Amino acid sequence: MEKQPSLAGKLWLVGAGPGDPDLLTLRAARLLASADLVVHDGLVGAGVLALIPPHVERISVAKQRSRHTMKQELINALIVRETLAGKQVVRLKGGDPFIFGRGGEELDAARAAGIAVEVVPGITAAAGCAAQAGVPLTHREDASAVSFVAGQCKDLTDQDWSGLAGHGRTLVIYMGLATAHAIADKLIADGVSPGLPVAVIERGTTAEARVLRTLLADLGDLVAREAVQSPALIIVGKVAARADALDCLGAPGVANALKDIACES
Ligand code: SAH
Repeated sequence: MEKQPSLAGKLWLVGAGPGDPDLLTLRAARLLASADLVVHDGLVGAGVLALIPPHVERISVAKQRSRHTMKQELINALIVRETLAGKQVVRLKGGDPFIFGRGGEELDAARAAGIAVEVVPGITAAAGCAAQAGVPLTHREDASAVSFVAGQCKDLTDQDWSGLAGHGRTLVIYMGLATAHAIADKLIADGVSPGLPVAVIERGTTAEARVLRTLLADLGDLVAREAVQSPALIIVGKVAARADALDCLGAPGVANALKDIACES
């Protein structure tokens, strides 16, 4: 029998976590089971999507070969329209909806349309991937501050990252693969040591996860050499030397350099 939509629709902006379905919140799992419609993006992994019961309608707004990502305005219009039609709508987004996820824009659209809306936090990639890789983003000996930045080409030159990386700090860069060389150059030009450890986490928390480690000066070459795939996260700071990772600088002696950094303190 087909499920009838309830009269009072509601929208949930739900974080799906970094990939591993076990890292979903209990609330997110419960909502996936009871929704009328799930609208998800490409970052949401197959393991999480498999938790959606077959009778629940799904719409992917992921990038496909044949077309570009659905425009944000169209996504906003879609989730508002379906909620106004009386559906329980889950807008499922990778990581946390409010960390580089445009969840804030969807919340604004929902509020402007006067629909009921609730936000369900998720484990953001920085927290999930770093923990899995054995990188404590803060550490009493190494870092008392952590920053999250976006490394997309469009904004890179406009962004002021001065003071975000270096002694006592950890910098986590989302969406930085394509600009890895420019990121290293930018940080070094800002006075960050080229010898600072860096960890690159590819598809963190999934079965295909890879964790690579090198020094800042080698970041761009490492990404190219290892053909690192999206999604990937870049962590810059002394804490990266604590990673359970492969040491990937071509030059001999890097593993020792990293060990020395990890042992200093
Ligand atoms: N809202 C998401 C981030 C969306 S931006 C969150 O809170 O995590 C997309 C970027 O997130 C990717 O380009 C990548 O830098 C990072 N990312 C997301 N999932 C990841 C994963 N499993 N492993 C590594 N990086 C990931």
